[in-house]
Amino acid sequence: MRDARYDVLFEPVALGPVTAHNRFFQVPHCNGMGHRDPTAHAVMRGVKAEGGWAVVCTEEVDFHPDSDTSGFIEGRLWDDGDIPMHERLVDQVHTHGSLAGIELVHNGMASANLYGRIPPAGPSHLPVKGYEPIQARAMTHDDIDDLRRRHRAAVGRALRAGYDLVYVYAAHNLSTLQHFLSPRANLRDDDYGGNLPNRARLLREVLEDTLEECAGRAAVACRIVVDELSGSEGIERGEMDALFELIGELPDVWDVMVGAWEDDSLTSRFGYEAWTEQHFRGIKQLTSKPVVGIGWLTSPDTMVRLVGSGVLDLIGAARPSIADPFLPRKIEEGRLDDIRECIGCNVCVTGDWTMTPIRCTQNPSMGEEWRRDWHPERYRPRASDAKVLVVGGGPAGLEAAMALGKRGYEVTLAEATRELGGRVLGEARLPGHAAWIRVVDYRCGQLAKLANVEIALESEVTADEVREYGFDHVAVATGSRWRSDGVGRRHRRPIPVEGVDVLTPDDLLAGERPAGAQVVLYDDDHYYLGGALAEMLAGEGTRVTLVTPAALVSEWTVNTMEQARIHRRLVDAGVELVTAHDLVVVDGGEARLVSTFTGRAHAVTLESLVLVTARLPNDTLARELGVTAIGDALAPGTIASAVWDGRRFAEDLDAPPRGDAVPFKREIVALAD
Ligand code: ADP
Ligand code: SF4
Repeated sequence: MRDARYDVLFEPVALGPVTAHNRFFQVPHCNGMGHRDPTAHAVMRGVKAEGGWAVVCTEEVDFHPDSDTSGFIEGRLWDDGDIPMHERLVDQVHTHGSLAGIELVHNGMASANLYGRIPPAGPSHLPVKGYEPIQARAMTHDDIDDLRRRHRAAVGRALRAGYDLVYVYAAHNLSTLQHFLSPRANLRDDDYGGNLPNRARLLREVLEDTLEECAGRAAVACRIVVDELSGSEGIERGEMDALFELIGELPDVWDVMVGAWEDDSLTSRFGYEAWTEQHFRGIKQLTSKPVVGIGWLTSPDTMVRLVGSGVLDLIGAARPSIADPFLPRKIEEGRLDDIRECIGCNVCVTGDWTMTPIRCTQNPSMGEEWRRDWHPERYRPRASDAKVLVVGGGPAGLEAAMALGKRGYEVTLAEATRELGGRVLGEARLPGHAAWIRVVDYRCGQLAKLANVEIALESEVTADEVREYGFDHVAVATGSRWRSDGVGRRHRRPIPVEGVDVLTPDDLLAGERPAGAQVVLYDDDHYYLGGALAEMLAGEGTRVTLVTPAALVSEWTVNTMEQARIHRRLVDAGVELVTAHDLVVVDGGEARLVSTFTGRAHAVTLESLVLVTARLPNDTLARELGVTAIGDALAPGTIASAVWDGRRFAEDLDAPPRGDAVPFKREIVALAD
């Protein structure tokens, strides 16, 4: 039974000609599957609808090859040939009584059009986003007519595919309609440039075209950036009053966002729940139309407050709906403690940046709904009475024990220490990483409800013990440890180190601290950990020099869209950054650094060394037992990959062996005649 204070979230909301059955609105989000994996994509959206999201949208969908989103794998609706994959998505969403929305996009100067090779076009002669060596050309009036006609034709195709809601997209610095609106990109002096009515002209025209084409058969949404966060150079929040005077009543629903994508999907390291509220407050009062907005909203109380205080009509979510596609249902059924809260890590976003199907740290079924038949809530019942021992209570072991328990197996989870959580316990204590503990909290909460799972803490098990216990299966999830010899990507042999104390991330996370106040931290791991440890040490008053062979600090966090913020935070914390340098030797109080470009060396002084390079799996137990370990004990990786492997183990148990067959379903392009 749901708590009456959440009733407001389950009120229907009219969106022009259609009605959302509640206030939960899955805003468009990328997924790395798009037009390449259309069925996997469709089924993933269907699961969201099943989980109670009243509106479920696509990612951005390009509607003509004159502006393609390549090499990202997004949606595509170029001609009628693309309609069937959209019909499939719409069907999946409709099966569960939700509305299906499509976000049509003209990327313009945000894309180099690498696929179609058609020179990109935007409001002005300006280079495309990123460093692709190509410029967008300034659109002529004929080009503008082409864009309007093509957009309108795509709206027609979207209607034929069955969509209930069609987006006019002017947000995320990804859309020509935004670029025309923005004084940062629009340098024109014709009737499409200059003052706000001129800059808004194309957006208004496309909105009017779309309304006319929809003709009451589908709602028209407008996604708008309310502040580009680039000061007076760009669109500012103050301009919204005038903009809404012009077009505020046109769309059936407003979808508001702030900044660019990296702001919109701010990680928990740099943001907090409802951080967008300060920018959204007052927008609703500018229009009679409903407003949806995001803000890493995972808590139903925050959602109620935002609706109650007149900030939003609909609760927008991408990441919270990825981590828990059943979030609305769980609130509706009064099962708040079953909510799998997003940790704000942006591993989901890395799917888009790496052009691979979306994955999620909290929800291992994300992207696997169709490929592997994994469901975020339902589990295949056990196929035998086997008793299973899971060794290790980190993310892999927790997930394996939980999923096996939900399948109905009798499970014992043995953990050597006093606390479940493994690596997450330490990492969640890093500055800005507190929300990561949700990986542990969710699973411990679920395990507590499973009578068939027994948890044994302070139980470091040996191979002999395991053999004695007589379990039918063992999942060895004993994790990994950081190397202290510097071996990793750059060095395949130990780095010679003399005369200073050496610490690893394990030492620091266990509470040890460097003996000296001057520390060199060598980061050859390149994800968040090196930077976060440097930030932690600097915050405690240690003088830290972060050395990395990469050109950027925490370079892989480009894929989580955090890199620039990490760099800024480290500089603010007083960490000295030495990029594109290798650490080759430490002797006494000196570390010798060599430029990875020129080979030129220089020395820095240090009293202590922290090595963040590579890990070794704790696989002794697995080897002694002759079983394949899971998670980091098999191959150290992300928390997301450990969770995924825990689920994979649970899913594979008692499943028929697949041999060398491809272990998941895929779609193969139909060959042309
Ligand atoms: P993963 O990310 O693969 O889940 P972690 O390193 O986070 O790995 O967690 C591994 C867990 O396994 C830790 O909590 C550790 O204490 C526990 N562990 C390691 N060896 C044993 C063992 N022999 N018996 C029980 N628990 C173990
Ligand atoms: Fe949230 Fe991380 Fe999952 Fe993305 S990957 S939805 S940020 S928990």
